[in-house]
Amino acid sequence: MSAYDAPVSDHRRKWDKDEYEQLARERLLVDDDDDSGPPVKRELLKPREYKVDLDSKLGKSVVITKTTPASQQGGYYCNVCDCVVKDSINFLDHINGKKHQRNLGMSMKIERSSLDQVRQRFEMNKKKKEEKKKEYDIEERLKEIKEEEEKVKAHKKEKRKERKRKADDSEDGDPDMAALMGFSGFGGSKKSN
Ligand SMILES: [Zn+2]
Repeated sequence: MSAYDAPVSDHRRKWDKDEYEQLARERLLVDDDDDSGPPVKRELLKPREYKVDLDSKLGKSVVITKTTPASQQGGYYCNVCDCVVKDSINFLDHINGKKHQRNLGMSMKIERSSLDQVRQRFEMNKKKKEEKKKEYDIEERLKEIKEEEEKVKAHKKEKRKERKRKADDSEDGDPDMAALMGFSGFGGSKKSN
């Protein structure tokens, strides 16, 4: 029987799921991607809690001599690793990189989120979204009310104007009224007394 006759599924290596998970858990706590020396336990990777300053020195000129310390030379200085990086992209690469994180005492391993944590995060994001929508709805509603009020105002104004126009028309056009008030219309005729 040649290898070709064997069922396809038998080609694949089988993993014991529990064993694999146990191994993964153990690996999580040990930073073993350093080939030199024994494995070291480091903290798990954590998100930055500060904003990276990339542009405070933008457009500024500095005189640099041989004795200028690295921190004051051009480029981006990392005080954790005491090195200068030439541009912002490489600086971001650097502070996100393994060497820098290691100098901060962290491995590149991240905390594995539990199902509950993921659920909580989803829940939180959902709430945030709803909150935003509510805010938006209120703003939208206020705007509508204001527009409605302005329409009513404009309508009233228009009506007032129309009434005034009608009143003016009747003053000019009603001969009895004109006679009563002692003058005739714009005919240029003589006054009646
Ligand atoms: Zn660094």
